[in-house]
Amino acid sequence: MRATVMYGAGDVRVENVADARVVEATDAVVTVTRAAICGSDLWPYKSMEPSETGRRMGHEFIGVVDAVGDDVRTLAPGDVVVTPFVWSDGTCVFCRVGLHTSCLHGGRYGVDGVDGGQGEAVRVPQADGTLVVLPVGRDDGLMPALLTLSDVMATGHHAALSADVGPGKTVAVVGDGAVGLCGVIAAQRLGAEQIIILGRHADRVELAREFGATDAVSERGEEAVERVRELTDGLGAHSVLECVGLGEATATAMRLARPGGAVGRVGVPQEEAIPEGISTFFDNVTIAGGPAPARAYIEELLPDVLDGRIEPGRVLRPRR
Ligand SMILES: [Zn+2]
Repeated sequence: MRATVMYGAGDVRVENVADARVVEATDAVVTVTRAAICGSDLWPYKSMEPSETGRRMGHEFIGVVDAVGDDVRTLAPGDVVVTPFVWSDGTCVFCRVGLHTSCLHGGRYGVDGVDGGQGEAVRVPQADGTLVVLPVGRDDGLMPALLTLSDVMATGHHAALSADVGPGKTVAVVGDGAVGLCGVIAAQRLGAEQIIILGRHADRVELAREFGATDAVSERGEEAVERVRELTDGLGAHSVLECVGLGEATATAMRLARPGGAVGRVGVPQEEAIPEGISTFFDNVTIAGGPAPARAYIEELLPDVLDGRIEPGRVLRPRR
């Protein structure tokens, strides 16, 4: 089969690789019909050291079950399925509390003999715990929206939950990429009263407004903090969604929270230290977040996608 392999910064090849096949009795083989590129794929694309063997890419995909191992109970060939961006058993102590990203028997796509999602097919380990059957045909018009459940929409939702978004609250969303835009969708869905998007791409900020953002701030750093204070009676936001991960954006996010507020971090941190450790201490700011347990959220978000109440597929193509 054909699959995407990255050999170094800017060096991505589509090559012949070993066919995906059932190895463990808990595996399913999925023929990939849709796959996405993650923001986290862009870091190696910019900076990966040259590699002789290369690295299989992709962890966000939808497909059709082609074969299942003897122990798989909930899936059958022909099922249309979406995967969260990591695989998990669904039964361990962490999965049972909805933290599938810490599954004791789980792992990542593209490493340790597991295929990447950017290829013709994938061996999915722990298939019963990982895959969610979609009640649609393989070419349904909702596919772009359904594909976002694999990562970006689940991640935006995780940012909002981590930042304790709720009815009547003021929310600041740092970043206007796909995750930031999904963070706006999630904040609106959870009842936020005011949603401030921080970004400077006009087309994406416009889309954020269509998703429910009430204000937009194009400034960065200290000026951004001042603008958000002006928009919040000088207080700052109850909930801040950090959807970038770079040092300056994270520092800004910490400073946007009002005393007693919360910051939900979902941008993959590019630095070891968390900034503003002293000011957030004295303001009793909660700092939460991490990789989204997408498997825990897919079933909650799926009805809203199927009904068209949320339209996260639009983040994949903001330019119209
Ligand atoms: Zn588990």
